[in-house]
Amino acid sequence: MNPSRPLALLKELAEGCRVLHAQGHADMTLGHLSLRDPDGRGVWLKRSGIGLGEVRGAEDFVLLDFDGQVLAGGGRLHKEWPIHTAILRARPDVQAIGHSHPPHATVFSALDAELLAVSNEAAYLGGPPGCFDATTNLIDTPALGEALAQALGGASSVLMRNHGIAFVGSSIAEAVLMGVFLERACRSQLLAMASGRPYGGTPLAQLADKRAKILDAALQANFWAFYRRDLGPVADVPAETPTTA
Ligand SMILES: [Zn+2]
Repeated sequence: MNPSRPLALLKELAEGCRVLHAQGHADMTLGHLSLRDPDGRGVWLKRSGIGLGEVRGAEDFVLLDFDGQVLAGGGRLHKEWPIHTAILRARPDVQAIGHSHPPHATVFSALDAELLAVSNEAAYLGGPPGCFDATTNLIDTPALGEALAQALGGASSVLMRNHGIAFVGSSIAEAVLMGVFLERACRSQLLAMASGRPYGGTPLAQLADKRAKILDAALQANFWAFYRRDLGPVADVPAETPTTA
């Protein structure tokens, strides 16, 4: 079983994993990033058992069809693979999806609070994140994946109560940046809340205009290139590891 692999894209996807690790999304071996297969066969998902910061290249991804059947790759599967298949089914515009447990966004997910555009990062998101609270447990069935996709709606990200976040993009770069921005936006608001002073954000009605001015395609490409330059060497890890979480 050796179907063709989109090597350049999987190399970029591996870099996306390491960018997430470096930008506050590290949580031991948890968290994953995926890419819609350019040939329509399914989704390339990071294998389980290694941390986001340990993902080196194409060999660290497993190709699944939309029902979760493994088509290629020798690694073990993250139990939460239905996040990826369900969102890809629901959102034809999405090419890449991430799921992680960054500390500020995960704490924010537990609050009865809406994310305000306290700083630029929330404006970069293009609108408020969805809010998923059907369970605080693993998204390990197609039905839960569909419920999460519904909570995401047309947004770029979704807060998963007492669990973490999911984030999407029309490219690997866009998806990873949305994950980075959401964590930073939640951190900004938590800091504002912790100050004990009244605070506010950019009004919702002004958000689209602000975003159009502060994040165009060229700047997004600059941000992505910056994060890729910032990556250090990646450690050697075993090709197979015993965990499945
Ligand atoms: Zn999770």
